[in-house]
Amino acid sequence: MSTVVIVGAGHAAGQVAASLRQDGHEGPIIMLGDEPFIPYQRPPLSKQYLSGEQAIDRVYLRPQKFYDDKIISVRTGVTVDLIDRTAKTVHTTAGETLAYDDLIIATGSRARKLSIQGSDLKGIHYLRTVADVDAIRSEMGTGKKIVIVGGGYIGLEVASVAVTSGMEVHVIEMEARILQRVTTPEMSAYYHQLHTSRGVQIHTSTGVKGFTGENGQVKGVLAGNQTFAADVVIVGIGIIPNIEIAKEAGITCENGIVVDECCRTNDPHIYAIGDCSNHPNPLLGRRLRLESVPNAMDQARVASANIRGQDKTYAAIPWFWSDQYELKLQMVGFSADGNQQVLRGDKAANQFAVFYLKDGVLVAADAVNSPKEFMLSKQLVGKKVDAAKLADPATDLKTL
Ligand SMILES: Cc1cc2nc3c(=O)[nH]c(=O)nc-3n(C[C@H](O)[C@H](O)[C@H](O)COP(=O)(O)OP(=O)(O)OC[C@H]3O[C@@H](n4cnc5c(N)ncnc54)[C@H](O)[C@@H]3O)c2cc1C
Repeated sequence: MSTVVIVGAGHAAGQVAASLRQDGHEGPIIMLGDEPFIPYQRPPLSKQYLSGEQAIDRVYLRPQKFYDDKIISVRTGVTVDLIDRTAKTVHTTAGETLAYDDLIIATGSRARKLSIQGSDLKGIHYLRTVADVDAIRSEMGTGKKIVIVGGGYIGLEVASVAVTSGMEVHVIEMEARILQRVTTPEMSAYYHQLHTSRGVQIHTSTGVKGFTGENGQVKGVLAGNQTFAADVVIVGIGIIPNIEIAKEAGITCENGIVVDECCRTNDPHIYAIGDCSNHPNPLLGRRLRLESVPNAMDQARVASANIRGQDKTYAAIPWFWSDQYELKLQMVGFSADGNQQVLRGDKAANQFAVFYLKDGVLVAADAVNSPKEFMLSKQLVGKKVDAAKLADPATDLKTL
């Protein structure tokens, strides 16, 4: 019976272990994760877990009993620091050596850190783990001042939780608009207006130069020509994929661990899935490194199938979601690929979808509080559509 070792115990790792059992793998499955938790979902960390609506047991991907029943060994607090491809073993920082027949690297990513004046002061946080959020929550509170560095999805989700809880919120964004890296100027403007209307103060084209403090505790953020008073600071400026152990083992890496459409690296017995991997997308004709749950789950299923000899390939149009206030944004495809925008619904009522077409073909969609439009968009991507019918709320999208 062959042994599968999984490095990392996040979303992708939890799913691949479950899929392997479902696909009929009977040999040992050993998951090694450096955090003190069994696999959990990160999306609630900047949403319901941060706001206190969801307790930790609702954040876990599956309960411990699942792993016990399926005889999956989940070993927490274990860091892998070396892969020996010749011996087919992994080594942990505790000095242990474990043998594998197939190895899955699911090491995810880590928050990109600032290294500027005062960046090591207490009260400056990054948001990636349960431990990060527990620390942040203990410092949040009505009437306190929070400064969020970075106007991306995570920063804006935190802003919505913080302002709703009665905090004074400033978002500092270096670019000319929030969400610049991920969406269109129109969607950025919509979210800018939404946050401003709820009391969030957004400062674009403003670079953070440093932090001021007192007795080791942050007190202010130096940005642009101002100092913003702060009781707590959250920095959300992107992530870095955890590729180091793969690179040191001679596995090809370039903006992530390079894999083929089967999630296999240049070593036929080593797979890489989730945030850390860079895969080819045959539908879009280019390589992608995605930071999303659907990608982690899909790649996990594909890697499992290939370990089981099923020859399955990964080909999906990327999709993502973000929850801010009572608004659910669901996105499919890349809006930047389009050359025409079609609006359906009512922006003022916070219920609409924007479709992105390229030469008449649907390439992407953003849907706000419009799950039906989102679901149908997922099916219509890649197809020629009638723009006038898309825009007309009287047209049943199913007829397209
Ligand atoms: C706050 C937040 C909100 C998000 N919201 C959304 C959302 O709304 N929608 C969405 O689709 N996606 C969202 N994401 C992204 C999504 O959570 C990630 O894409 C997903 O978690 C990736 O799963 P993964 O298993 O690849 O990596 P991770 O979940 O990062 O898991 C990797 C694990 O491996 C561990 N590890 C790393 N190196 C080693 C090592 N050498 N030895 C042992 N263990 C190691 C890491 O510590 C980590 O625990 C969000 C992410 C964050 C942080």
